[in-house]
Amino acid sequence: MFLSVVIPCYNEEKVLPITHRALHEVLRKDAKLHNYDYQLIFIDDGSRDKTLPILKELCKEDPCSRYISFSRNFGKESAMLAGLEYSTGECIVIMDADMQHPPEMIPELIKYYREGYDQVVTKRTRDGDQKRRTLLAKLYYKIVNSLIDVRLDDGIGDFRLLSRNAAQALLSLQEYNRFSKGLFSWIGFQTKVIEMKNTQRAAGETKWSLRSLLHYGIEGIISFNNKPLRICFYLGTVLILFSLAYLLFLLVNFICHGVDTPGYFTTITAILLIGGTQLFCIGVLGEYIGRIYYEVKRRPHYIIGETDLDMKPYKH
Ligand code: UDP
Ligand code: MG
Repeated sequence: MFLSVVIPCYNEEKVLPITHRALHEVLRKDAKLHNYDYQLIFIDDGSRDKTLPILKELCKEDPCSRYISFSRNFGKESAMLAGLEYSTGECIVIMDADMQHPPEMIPELIKYYREGYDQVVTKRTRDGDQKRRTLLAKLYYKIVNSLIDVRLDDGIGDFRLLSRNAAQALLSLQEYNRFSKGLFSWIGFQTKVIEMKNTQRAAGETKWSLRSLLHYGIEGIISFNNKPLRICFYLGTVLILFSLAYLLFLLVNFICHGVDTPGYFTTITAILLIGGTQLFCIGVLGEYIGRIYYEVKRRPHYIIGETDLDMKPYKH
């Protein structure tokens, strides 16, 4: 068996050597024990610190490690995609560079792969996270799951093992806006979920601000189906029904009691409410049109600046 480990890295100079060492410690032992080979593929996502020189150094001394360096920061989704396209393993593990995904769990992932699962995913608890964030995340997943077709679970992240079949299935989805949490779930396959303890990153800092989380959240809702459009449709229908009912009421009032000067309140309410609803719906429409815009451009997901790999990417 041949295992590929894909590690997206963005400004991870502080943890890279730690992760590299830890991975080797675990994998060397396990590979010997269970008789398999492995390769580590580090994707430098246009880091602005010393990540790339450190990677080059590590890969020069280590025949099992390879690196791909992007020409700029393309985001973790693109880094994972590049890793999948360039890895040759029979199964592929994707993990973060910051030691929040413990390398010690890889042997367990492989164990389940050998039992026949195509996807082995880890689910983390939220111990030690900020209360506010945990609550927000819970609420978000409630809303999202009621809105989209695939199922997203809180805590299920990007630390996972994919069989070659599952990886090929992912690569066959050529969309530009990649929301991989949803894609992983969309491709299906036999999936095993295992618990993982929540750990804080070993060094460096998270790249997620509240704003980027918000963007990611909207991406999750919009990128999977057109239910938000349908909601706009329903909203419009309800508004029309209400307006008709109100008009009828006014008409009856007019017939029974003659002309009645309508109040300022109702006029203003109608203008604001309808105006607001229209803007909201245009916003939703805009989100979809924006996505179509990016899809039709058919730009590549990433551009490789340099690499020490001498192969063409796996294409479907
Ligand atoms: N990452 C990346 N490109 C980015 C942002 C992050 O490749 O634009 C990598 C990062 O180096 C790390 C992983 O994605 O290995 C997860 O990032 P981070 O630890 O900041 O996210 P968190 O664990 O806080 O969700
Ligand atoms: Mg992290």
